[in-house]
Amino acid sequence: MFESLNLSAPQKPQVAESEAEKVKCLIIGSGPAGYTAAIYAARANLKPVIYEGLQPGGQLTTTTEVENFPGYPEGITGPELMEDLKKQATRFGTDIRWGIATSTDLSSRPFKVTIDDKKLIEAEVLIIATGATAKYLGIPDEQKYAGSGVSACATCDGFFYRKKDVAVVGGGDTAAEEAVYLSGLCNKVYLIVRRNELRASKVMQERVMNTPNIEVLWKHQTKGLLGDGVVEGAELYKNKGEANEEIVRIKIDGFFLAIGHTPNSDIVKEFVEVDEVGYIKTIPGSSKTNIPGVFACGDVQDPHYKQAITAAGSGCMAAIDAERFLSENG
Ligand code: NDP
Repeated sequence: MFESLNLSAPQKPQVAESEAEKVKCLIIGSGPAGYTAAIYAARANLKPVIYEGLQPGGQLTTTTEVENFPGYPEGITGPELMEDLKKQATRFGTDIRWGIATSTDLSSRPFKVTIDDKKLIEAEVLIIATGATAKYLGIPDEQKYAGSGVSACATCDGFFYRKKDVAVVGGGDTAAEEAVYLSGLCNKVYLIVRRNELRASKVMQERVMNTPNIEVLWKHQTKGLLGDGVVEGAELYKNKGEANEEIVRIKIDGFFLAIGHTPNSDIVKEFVEVDEVGYIKTIPGSSKTNIPGVFACGDVQDPHYKQAITAAGSGCMAAIDAERFLSENG
């Protein structure tokens, strides 16, 4: 499933401070932002410790071909790119660990971060690179058929729908990319788009329109899913709210969500300023949050660009900001 760092709601650290491990630079999250921050922090001798989170490598590990990351003229797969970034971070001495940050106390330095509800870390500087998680429509059938035809990651689960009919919901780059990917595996792909245009980039729009087994269902929205235990179809509103509104049914075996993401800021938003959606606010042109010594990079602070390369760039900024902060504040 397309769930990156599924961080639970904030809780107070339950571990005695005397047992805390002291760390100079703690990075939480291991997408392009986290690993790039680690590469720079390690080379600056900040001895970074990185906790990978629930989905080591982040969302790119659920992507197939990455064609727009500079330096790879032939493209590279998401998992390979993340493996390379991880190797590069390891080469300079990053301490990469398996574990999920489950709570924080950022009220004073050193910052306290609890891992897996049991291990307390005290960090002189903290870099938050926790990414974002796929959104669902919020209809009850998504739960009912979870794991039985509903998925938020075509590249993870598409394989199970070879030669079958599937639907992808959304009109952005993710939806377009997933529809094109699925078109190579499946018999037919419906792209369910709520407006009469796609938000996706021009190149992705063209790929969708030039793929014969993708059918775009313009101005359609999902009413519910049908099927006995597993998804066998979907009921859709066409022209919802208009005079010519009607309900149509499609026969599908798989239903893929690709409607955007929610930033994984729950464990820090008691302390760190976030916007109305939950994206961490950073001081423009920097990775600095409202708390001196706490930096944010990657998708958790980026409602606009959300690219691997911009995440990596902001990870570099976070490590440089952290290094400067430590040299000025000890
Ligand atoms: P976006 O926010 O760009 O698009 C979300 C899409 O889902 C929109 O078409 C939106 O419709 C639709 N949507 C949202 N909520 C609902 C709902 N409740 N019901 C039906 N449809 C809904 O998200 P993406 O994940 O596609 O992309 C995020 C960012 O990542 C973008 O900047 C994108 O360019 C980038 N990206 C880049 C890739 C690449 O370069 N290879 C690959 C994937 C993503 P509406 O348009 O009506 O708002």
